[in-house]
Amino acid sequence: MQKNKFTRGLRITILLGLLTYITYEGYLHQVLGGGKAPSTHALCPFGALESLYTLLFTGSFIQKIYSGTVVLLILTVIIAILFRRSFCGLLCPFGALQELFGKIGRRILKKQFIMPAFIDKPLRYLKYLILLLTVGMAWYYGTLWMAPYDPYSAYTHLSAFTDTIEEDPLAIIGFLVLVVTLAGSFIYDRFFCKYLCPVGALYGIIGRLSPTKIERNADLCVNCKKCNKACPVNIDVEKSLKITSAECINCNECVLVCPKKGALEIKTAGKKIQPFALLLIVIGLFFGTIFIAQATGNYEILPSKIEEGQTITISEIKGYYTIEEAAVATGMSLQEIYEKLGIPKNISKNTQMKAISKEVDGFILDEAKSKASGDNTNVDEP
Ligand code: SF4
Ligand code: SF4
Repeated sequence: MQKNKFTRGLRITILLGLLTYITYEGYLHQVLGGGKAPSTHALCPFGALESLYTLLFTGSFIQKIYSGTVVLLILTVIIAILFRRSFCGLLCPFGALQELFGKIGRRILKKQFIMPAFIDKPLRYLKYLILLLTVGMAWYYGTLWMAPYDPYSAYTHLSAFTDTIEEDPLAIIGFLVLVVTLAGSFIYDRFFCKYLCPVGALYGIIGRLSPTKIERNADLCVNCKKCNKACPVNIDVEKSLKITSAECINCNECVLVCPKKGALEIKTAGKKIQPFALLLIVIGLFFGTIFIAQATGNYEILPSKIEEGQTITISEIKGYYTIEEAAVATGMSLQEIYEKLGIPKNISKNTQMKAISKEVDGFILDEAKSKASGDNTNVDEP
């Protein structure tokens, strides 16, 4: 029992650690820009799935996605094949945020609420529709189509709320979905995981192939229902003999709270595996692979640095560049870059490209780049 308590504490500590990391990275991304701190999209495996079509047919990634994102997708798919939705239950920072709100909600409301079945059942299918829609649209348009509606992205943009909405008014939808997710998790726990998460839906489908399952021994079970109470996604563990549902996020809380030895066990290919060992294997696989990918130069989560002597085209100028950095990167003089992009002379050369619109009414970076690209055919020639 002591070991179970420790394992539960360790899982929560890892999740909160990852949530803290993502929150800090999100803040840095806003302050330093995408060239110095990665975006949430680069750190979320789903971004690589959205980029898959472009990668297979053009050999390049869609904006904000890099080789490290692909490593994360492959790695989490392998985890799903071996250990079902363990990424959701043991490693996902957005899952951690929801669980945190769920725990606070249970403390304050002093009750665990369960969504009525007639709403819950149809809503569970919504995440599969979102998976199809978001991947389809991303493949069709070759962009992170879901980004403005994504509550995870909205969470990491909280420190730049007004700027984000000014840049893309549709981003307000992502912030609203974030509010719904947090309020829903406060009352029902893991709201986004249960009803909306496309990547959870993907792991759930893949996890059907997994040899790992939780099994209940009806002869040893005393029907105390502690497992049901502990389950953040409301699976009726006490009535099941095997948990094969794609809804199970493999947090193993049910196994860890079960008071009867042997009544509830995790089995991989028929062999019993302790929750603590499983947690260590998943963590080791996840961080070990990232470490190896990083050490071998296969884990990029930032755009490649512009080498000396190399130039980019105007259309490749990023929003986080200052005007001066854009001039150096394109190999132009400052005067040329001001003229080509139509930037008034009174704007400081240290202003970030994405911030110009705040000082110049009607300035839209993408439009300025497209207009300038028309007469920029030779700009990347040395
Ligand atoms: S917690 Fe264990 S003993 Fe209690 S109902 Fe669940 S499986 Fe049975
Ligand atoms: S069934 Fe058990 S492992 Fe699955 S989500 Fe519920 S508590 Fe976690």
